[in-house]
Amino acid sequence: MTARALSSLPPDFVSQARIAGPEACWPWLGEVSSWGYGVGPRGVPAHVWAWRLTHGDAPLRKGYRLAQTCGNRLCVNPKHLRQRKGW
Ligand SMILES: [Zn+2]
Repeated sequence: MTARALSSLPPDFVSQARIAGPEACWPWLGEVSSWGYGVGPRGVPAHVWAWRLTHGDAPLRKGYRLAQTCGNRLCVNPKHLRQRKGW
């Protein structure tokens, strides 16, 4: 992710994540669901919000879910998000 893409993230996202650097984990600081994931606007999971902010609103591939490659459910760094098959 470029510095420009980073700076284009909306303030209400940036204010709820600890953005340490382009490669680092970005722990979500806002509301957390009982599943252990961050909660964004209108109940959208925070990491899904992060994905949409950087990849657009295109739906995920059918049968895939969005997972953190770093294993940290609270991480919202789009670089740490991949579409993975199944659950
Ligand atoms: Zn991470």
